[in-house]
Amino acid sequence: MRKDCKQVWENCLSFIKDNISDKKLFETWFKPLEPLKLEEDVLTLKVPSMFFYEFIEENYIDVLKASIRKELGHNARLMYSVVLDTGIKNTGGNSVLPSNNITATQNYAQNVPVNLDAQSRDLPNPFVIPGIRKVKVNSQLNENYSFDNFVEGSCNQLARSAGYAVAQNPGKTAFNPLFIHGAVGLGKTHLLHAIGLETKRRYPEKTVLYISAEQFFQQFVDSTKNNTRNDFLQFYQMMIDVLIIDDIQFFANKTGTQEVFFQIFNGLHAANKQLIITSDKSPADLSGLEQRVISRLKWGLSAEMQMPDAQTRMQIIEKKLFKDGITMPQDVIEYLAYNINSSVRELEGALISLIARSSIAKQEITLDLAKDMIDKFVRSNNKEISIEYIQKVVCDYFKIPIETMLSKTRKGEVVAARHISMFLSRKHTQSSLATIGNKCGNKDHATVLHACRSVQNSYDTDKQFKTNLEAIEKRITE
Ligand code: ADP
Ligand code: MG
Repeated sequence: MRKDCKQVWENCLSFIKDNISDKKLFETWFKPLEPLKLEEDVLTLKVPSMFFYEFIEENYIDVLKASIRKELGHNARLMYSVVLDTGIKNTGGNSVLPSNNITATQNYAQNVPVNLDAQSRDLPNPFVIPGIRKVKVNSQLNENYSFDNFVEGSCNQLARSAGYAVAQNPGKTAFNPLFIHGAVGLGKTHLLHAIGLETKRRYPEKTVLYISAEQFFQQFVDSTKNNTRNDFLQFYQMMIDVLIIDDIQFFANKTGTQEVFFQIFNGLHAANKQLIITSDKSPADLSGLEQRVISRLKWGLSAEMQMPDAQTRMQIIEKKLFKDGITMPQDVIEYLAYNINSSVRELEGALISLIARSSIAKQEITLDLAKDMIDKFVRSNNKEISIEYIQKVVCDYFKIPIETMLSKTRKGEVVAARHISMFLSRKHTQSSLATIGNKCGNKDHATVLHACRSVQNSYDTDKQFKTNLEAIEKRITE
């Protein structure tokens, strides 16, 4: 039986009226609403302005929810259609807003006007009626990317601590803008979310917006098409306290977007609002961006993120496993950490594949399974064995801590391990003698050369040594 939209709303109103003590308020806030349509348990109400929408959502949503559920059952949903004031330029048409509160699964996402024309794009729409300051903007922050889940290492220390400082005092530190750059998959986006979340935690009243440069570009293009560029500008300049733009290299050669970004940047910066920006290139290497834009990026702090070292990679794996409640043998964790040195994203990818494979094959996660998978997963695009991994295997073989090998100790066994590490690094990596020396306790290239000769010599003359060396080499290469 189809329910009549008007009748449903009448019933809702009488319920609401009974439940609101001040009848005058009821007249003020509910009389002006009109039922527009009812489709599959979704009731759409016409509201006269954004202010109405906000006020109702903030003050009367509970009673409104109860009334609609009573009429339509538990799956009921509510949408608002805001008919924008005709006195405002360029906003033509309605905006439909889902009620933020009426379904259990609703996320916070669309508590901003959603342009009907832009349904296909899952973007928060920036257009806001001037004069209404208190609009909830969907921050687009991902709770999983928190500081708690972010492993700190020397590779990301500057960016992380500057980001943390910014979150404690947005707009008030010298780090404005905070510009973070580094290769793909090293944790830039994660850090941005962490900064945004921490800011929201400290300052719930501040409006934080995370947006990819690509989304920003699309919004800008839409605003040009729809003749709403002023609203777009106004949104960014008036509503946002902390603006986070990810992957700004996307702006390359997009002059219109750069122009508008430049304006927004200046407006926000002058108002002591915080800007946090990332790129996969350093400011010096950002091609296709106007000089004046690049110079803005350099106003605050520019921090580079690098590939985490093997120890940090191990911590990252351990953290992910812990979070997912998965255990894995230590040698497997080490193997992954030492062998995947291209990016954290790849490391995660390998970890996920390994877990998936073991559960599909109902096999335990073992070093052999890991090796087998890594061969297919990594070796194809990253043939090089790392110096760190060689050192690890050698130290395991001699049962000495890596730190000892990297120290200045001259004990026979330690020296042997050090020499063998250098020899195998030279044989199995493309690294220069200087690099090998550097990573092997800060030795110079002559020391490395000497070590290699001495190992070769023992190999040629000492049978036992030969057997040992071959055993180690097998562990490294198999
Ligand atoms: P980028 O934006 O630099 O390309 P991402 O932030 O998307 O990199 O990171 C890729 C993946 O690696 C994400 O899943 C992220 O959680 C993870 N990751 C990167 N760095 C760290 C870190 N230091 N601690 C924990 N996870 C990290
Ligand atoms: Mg990213």
